[in-house]
Amino acid sequence: MPRSYPLARPVIGSAEFKAVQQVLHSGVLSLGRETPAFEAVFAKFVGTKYAAAVSSGTAGLHLAMIAAGIAPGDEVITTPFSFIASANCILYVGAKPVFVDIDPQTYNLDPAKIAAAVTKKTRAILVVHIFGQPADMQPIIKIARQYKLKIIEDACESLGARYRGRSVGTFGESAVFAFYPNKQMTTGEGGMVVTDSRRVYDLAVSLRNQGRDQSRAWLNHVRLGYNYRLDEMSAALGRAQLRRLPALLKARQQVAAWYHTALASLSDYLTPPVTAAGNTHTWFLYVVRLRRGGAARDRLIKRLAQRGIPAKPYFPSIHLFSFYRQQFGYRPGAFLRSEAASNSTLALPFYVGLTRRDIRYIVGQLRQSLKF
Ligand SMILES: *Cc1c(COP(=O)(O)O)cnc(C)c1O
Repeated sequence: MPRSYPLARPVIGSAEFKAVQQVLHSGVLSLGRETPAFEAVFAKFVGTKYAAAVSSGTAGLHLAMIAAGIAPGDEVITTPFSFIASANCILYVGAKPVFVDIDPQTYNLDPAKIAAAVTKKTRAILVVHIFGQPADMQPIIKIARQYKLKIIEDACESLGARYRGRSVGTFGESAVFAFYPNKQMTTGEGGMVVTDSRRVYDLAVSLRNQGRDQSRAWLNHVRLGYNYRLDEMSAALGRAQLRRLPALLKARQQVAAWYHTALASLSDYLTPPVTAAGNTHTWFLYVVRLRRGGAARDRLIKRLAQRGIPAKPYFPSIHLFSFYRQQFGYRPGAFLRSEAASNSTLALPFYVGLTRRDIRYIVGQLRQSLKF
């Protein structure tokens, strides 16, 4: 019998069951004490003054864009090599995402290419820390200062990651984390906006709750808001997950190390992920790069699927999705490094609970699928 693996899987233990059950017993399922308690420990973990829980990472990015004052006519510089939410949030506020190509090693924004994309309309750089690895923040901060641009971080894939010892989520006006079940920790659906700015925090808290005013007076809506609240079950789950997060991150490092070792013998076929010097990588996914991409990569995915291994391409380049092409006229060739990565990457099963034996088995199946 061939074994079979999911691509990702959360760790849910008795602490999580207990935490959620307690909320259910209490009868307070929204707007209770769990959400502020989760926010307080989360802000402390990341190292920001404030944290506002929201219903998803995407909702958080939307609020971060509004809080940054991004509006129709503005441009925001970002990466095409990401999950689509990091560019869509710019569209939500009527602004234009201006893509800049990536560093082919880390898949993060290439700072050397940013200045050329700045125009009179540029207001911000939306930095994505991809796959659990920080972007190269020092030159990005320098450019942002030079052109007076805000920095917003999409840290949805990188909770716990550090750039030169400093936690992601502390570099911009605001940053957003996400808790979908394949992330480093989960609340089911959920997200968090973190910031050191009282103004951004107050605005996020108001906007997530239908635009209520500061005093949260009963049904006094002072601006166009949304329902982006996180419910109490999710907040309790998040608090239980956060308690075990250091152990989860350590376990992810271990699984990545096992992959590194096992994949060394396949260096003629693929390159394992690279961690830039000075970075702490928290391993959202384990993404290898194949020497032969395109159709060969897609055939490999099919063969692996037949062997119970659900490898997936990560990510398609955002500018080539049909509605981005239609709206902005992008064509293949616009961002060559991003497109080359999209054509040649493969995410392997990666989650806490995989053993060294599992990794050897998966890599063995990969070896056979590559060779035949
Ligand atoms: C997961 C993720 C998000 C947010 O996703 P949600 O499903 O809305 O929580 C945003 N950006 C990136 C890069 C992501 O990986």
